[in-house]
Amino acid sequence: MSQVLDGTLVRDQILEKLKHRVARLGRPPGLAVVLVGSDPASEQYVKNKILACQKLGIYSEKITPPVTSTTEDMLKVIDQINHNPKLDAVLVQMPMPPQIDPHRVLAALDPGKDADGFHPTNVGYLVAGRPAPRACTPSGIIELLKFYRIKMDGRKAVVLGRSDIVGKPMALMLLQENCTVTICHSRTINLEDECRTADILVTAMGRPATITANYIAPGATVIDVGTTRISDRDEAVRLGREDEFLKRGAIFVGDVHPLDVRHGPGAYTPVPGGVGPLTIAMLMSNTVMLAEQRQGMGEAVRVSA
Ligand code: NAP
Repeated sequence: MSQVLDGTLVRDQILEKLKHRVARLGRPPGLAVVLVGSDPASEQYVKNKILACQKLGIYSEKITPPVTSTTEDMLKVIDQINHNPKLDAVLVQMPMPPQIDPHRVLAALDPGKDADGFHPTNVGYLVAGRPAPRACTPSGIIELLKFYRIKMDGRKAVVLGRSDIVGKPMALMLLQENCTVTICHSRTINLEDECRTADILVTAMGRPATITANYIAPGATVIDVGTTRISDRDEAVRLGREDEFLKRGAIFVGDVHPLDVRHGPGAYTPVPGGVGPLTIAMLMSNTVMLAEQRQGMGEAVRVSA
């Protein structure tokens, strides 16, 4: 049987350490969460983030501009947050309504308050291998690999997906850990062969159960970022998850086939319970780090433009 890499365990350890850092600050860290409109999935993500803040003693503000907001309206909202001394960090929940240009909104953030690590200045620091707030999902994966002492130095890593929020920053972070990195995407030829070269395979496609045993080298570590909700019972039965489906009415499935992942890889992250729990923990970590910096404590992280 392959080893299960439990993201909840790593999350709890990260949050425990953060509690002590929050207690040392002169005032609570402050996070603004901006949610435009009322998409139910986004509402739930925002709720979870605010709950995580409450548990850690982080002050949070939910800012909800109307769904009809323009890019110019959003730039004003961001400017107010940038100048609010109670707020050390901000995240803008994506996607925003189509009339808003997300690139202009993200670029308007003070990079020293960028909780998601998406500001072009912070992306630049990541490329240069310099400290700065980093994209939460991939930085959580690095924490998980370190926690379980998965060797990265000199290993071959394959990242499946090239999005700005997962695939690209993941590849850069693995490179910084001295992996030899290949990035694959929808135009990659011989995907199976590429994946089978990996000591560490990170899949972030959002294509449920497509990575079968043929893609995985024996003994490889498989990190499954993909999360797709399946509400079709027959599909849940085919994936061996009928019991869970009957209990909850739907299941969440990763990119890796849940039946194939249990044997073959050396270790793997389950879905749910693998990568998912780490993302919010790293958002909290970025928030605390930015608050420490603003209050002249903690490591010197250059994040001002
Ligand atoms: P995305 O922006 O849609 O990117 C998907 C990537 O996968 C793209 O680079 C795409 O290639 C590639 N891809 C799609 N189909 C492929 C195929 N058949 N073969 C090879 N490559 C393929 O998605 P994302 O935002 O990175 O998210 C990816 C998944 O991770 C989603 O399921 C999302 O829900 C999940 N996610 C989970 C968390 C978490 O906390 N657990 C956080 C973020 C994301 P092209 O670039 O060529 O189109």
